[in-house]
Amino acid sequence: MLDVNSLRLLAECVQALADGFSRLPPYRTDTEDDALRKVLLETARRLHDNDPYFHPLYAAHMHKPPHTVARLAYALALYINPNNHSLEGGRASTAMEQEAVQQLAGLCGWDHYLGHLTGGGTMANLEALWIAGCLRPDATVLASSQAHYTHERLCTVLRLPFAAVAVDHQARMCMEALQCHLDQGTIGTVVATLGTTAAGAVDALHRLVELRKDYGFRLHVDAAYGGYFSLIDTLAPQTLQAMQALGQADSVVIDPHKHGLQPYGCGCVLFKDPAVGRFYQHGSPYTYFSSDALQLGKISLECSRAGAAAVALWATQRLLPPIRGGAFAADLVRCRQAALALYDYLLHSPTWLTLMRPELDIVNWAPHGASATQISQRSRRIYEVAAAGDLYLALADYPAELLRAHWPEVEFDSATVTCLRSCLLKPEHLDWQGELCARLETAARAATHCD
Ligand SMILES: *Cc1c(COP(=O)(O)O)cnc(C)c1O
Repeated sequence: MLDVNSLRLLAECVQALADGFSRLPPYRTDTEDDALRKVLLETARRLHDNDPYFHPLYAAHMHKPPHTVARLAYALALYINPNNHSLEGGRASTAMEQEAVQQLAGLCGWDHYLGHLTGGGTMANLEALWIAGCLRPDATVLASSQAHYTHERLCTVLRLPFAAVAVDHQARMCMEALQCHLDQGTIGTVVATLGTTAAGAVDALHRLVELRKDYGFRLHVDAAYGGYFSLIDTLAPQTLQAMQALGQADSVVIDPHKHGLQPYGCGCVLFKDPAVGRFYQHGSPYTYFSSDALQLGKISLECSRAGAAAVALWATQRLLPPIRGGAFAADLVRCRQAALALYDYLLHSPTWLTLMRPELDIVNWAPHGASATQISQRSRRIYEVAAAGDLYLALADYPAELLRAHWPEVEFDSATVTCLRSCLLKPEHLDWQGELCARLETAARAATHCD
């Protein structure tokens, strides 16, 4: 079931790579031996203790299998193991990173920008907030209470004041609550999340752009998970409006390792104004000798970075360009269809309570129950029973305030409620819809048996 066939293609490409260095005298390389085989087979066995992230029945967290092209290009690059810190560390992979990042900047409609890949969304957001702090020292950073927890923690690292803005019933930043914060007058930066990690909720970026005219704050967009959805039109009207405002941000974070088919270790930060590069300036006595051309280490907080990650992204985008109407965008449409199909089933089934309608491809729901406590207990039990039957779901805690409007009958005897959550990041989830729902019903029945 796991792809082994493409290893032949990899062998062919490794040979092609080696051909480019055939001028060098031969040297000894590791060859297969019994000790190596023993350790690697042991490694394979150790890896069995994972959920099957690659399989359509894994519908839990934001795991998306890297595309074959990404996996092979990454493996190919590892034979060189370039370091995109400097041109001497990786000339070809630096150029490939710049080309790949340019395509990502295309999602924002930007020709002139500053951007690079990072180890992930956390590092990318760190850089964006660091620059925000350089430009607005001591001013408060705002993000919604459903924003990724990293923003509050990063503000602690950066010693920037942080405040959370309440959300509405759709888990989007509440505009009235935001206005109250802004009227206090010490706000330096507002973080809009385009696709919250729990619910996939999309903050009204277009309205934030309007507010910025009056309040002059810096606007950072955390689109680590949701950014690629700006490529598709089949979104609800206000989600679409928010996505279309992506280019109005001052900085944007998009994670190719979330929806961009990349292995972990690939985030991206983009700045609309290339002049922020001045804050990165540093001298290094031992790098950057080879050229006056841009060296990515000069505009990145991380020093060594995997050139292989850039090579994999470049190859993926060569095969599946992140453009409107392309095959990559078509797969995102399918992910969203899968989420809507699941939501439709939940909405019409007597077994379940629904929350907000999915804006992207994450669905949240819960089993019926008289009280918040009972719903939480049942959610946890269904989560366990489902996994025992090879249907992998996630859990998410939501504050009672968010749920009250959705569930008027429920007695809220606790501050938060544990709900079921499913990230349908694989287009195949659409074909597996019937199977997912059937297994979900079975899990619910088995779980209520032991109620
Ligand atoms: C995943 C995610 C992050 C954190 O990114 P990592 O790549 O896990 O470091 C930040 N913000 C959002 C909205 C995310 O979904």
